[in-house]
Amino acid sequence: MINFPSSPLDDAELALRDEVRAFMVDYRKQGHPAQLGINAEPNIEFSKEISRRGWVGMSVPTEYGGHGRTAVDRFIVVEEMLAAGAPISAHWVGDRQTAQMLLKFGTEEQKHRFLPAIVNSEVFFCLGMSEPDSGSDLASVRTRATKTEGGWILNGQKVWTSGAHYADFAVSLCRTQPLTERKHIGLSQLIVDLKAEGVTVAPIRLLNGAHHFNEVFFDDVFVADEMLLGEPGDGWRQVTSELAHERSGPDRFLSVMPIVQRLYDELKEAKLDGAVRAELGLLFARYMTFRTMSLSIARRLDQGELPAVEAALVKDMGTQFENDAINAVRRIIDRQVDPVGDELDALLADAIVTAPTFTLRGGTNEVLRTVIAKDLIRNRGRAA
Ligand SMILES: Cc1cc2nc3c(=O)[nH]c(=O)nc-3n(C[C@H](O)[C@H](O)[C@H](O)COP(=O)(O)OP(=O)(O)OC[C@H]3O[C@@H](n4cnc5c(N)ncnc54)[C@H](O)[C@@H]3O)c2cc1C
Repeated sequence: MINFPSSPLDDAELALRDEVRAFMVDYRKQGHPAQLGINAEPNIEFSKEISRRGWVGMSVPTEYGGHGRTAVDRFIVVEEMLAAGAPISAHWVGDRQTAQMLLKFGTEEQKHRFLPAIVNSEVFFCLGMSEPDSGSDLASVRTRATKTEGGWILNGQKVWTSGAHYADFAVSLCRTQPLTERKHIGLSQLIVDLKAEGVTVAPIRLLNGAHHFNEVFFDDVFVADEMLLGEPGDGWRQVTSELAHERSGPDRFLSVMPIVQRLYDELKEAKLDGAVRAELGLLFARYMTFRTMSLSIARRLDQGELPAVEAALVKDMGTQFENDAINAVRRIIDRQVDPVGDELDALLADAIVTAPTFTLRGGTNEVLRTVIAKDLIRNRGRAA
């Protein structure tokens, strides 16, 4: 049985929530526009500011420059930031994922080099996994690293690499041993300096011209031995072991919350008919469900568990909810959306273009459902 025990916040956690909420109210009062979660324009000054407040790399141990706090504390910060439309994208990958990967698989040298830099928003990471013919079937990646004196020579191409145009490093999955029938064997992760000779980053633009992701080409790029993450050949296990971090967070159901908030601002004085009230009530009830699920996973991460299947469920249902929320807001406002109109319209226009990507990035919903179904049948003794 998949279980999400309820997990109320304690007094210290509620105080953290109030502190972050007050910070964001103040930030917004300074005239900064709300943006949509991880699609926000990167804002390095903002990332540095919240680093100064101790809100990046919260669960990184103090010996590596972190704050020794919890995944729940990070959940609280992220929830408040997303709900207020904060520009979190620059530090996002490092904070959510790379720091955890480094803690688990990195050498002491890598931990001391990169973790304080992530915590202080001095270095930004992106994820170089997908390739033109390897998305859902990630183990089929063809980017190849060949051993050479003191390191590796990397050749190949990545695609859909979010943030590669401002990140410093890409954690790149590549083949380091010949492909056999067991394609999950022989993959490795390299930390690739995106400014290195032989790396080319080319933008891929969305319909509205927005630039979030890229193609990344590796052409005889030298990657030193000390930039190998974990064991050579163990890349698949490493990548999949962090999925609970990647898929369970509030970013999987809260990206569109600034739109719902603006709608609420617009309607709060209006007399709403029953159908609109019901639609808003349903949205809120569903949001509270995903919040309970996500928070419950954060508690389990703090207990050393990696509930990857529960995380897949949050991402599948949460990203569907985000799409449903956008459609509900469009039905309720019932007008032509103006991309250069007021904040509600501008956010909604952005969401209409980007929402189809929510159920793809980080693993498509079809693939997530396969993961969930297999687990239910194999491990939990429940045929469908
Ligand atoms: C906004 C955005 C940001 C992204 N950022 C990054 C990033 O930073 N780094 C990175 O490495 N990648 C990134 N990606 C890539 C993302 O991980 C892939 O798009 C995703 O894994 C799907 O791969 P694909 O696009 O090759 O589609 P495919 O794998 O070709 O899938 C096409 C369709 O077939 C379905 N399908 C495929 N296999 C199966 C199956 N076995 N069973 C049922 N249905 C199946 C899929 O669900 C999908 O609907 C990003 C994608 C998006 C949209």
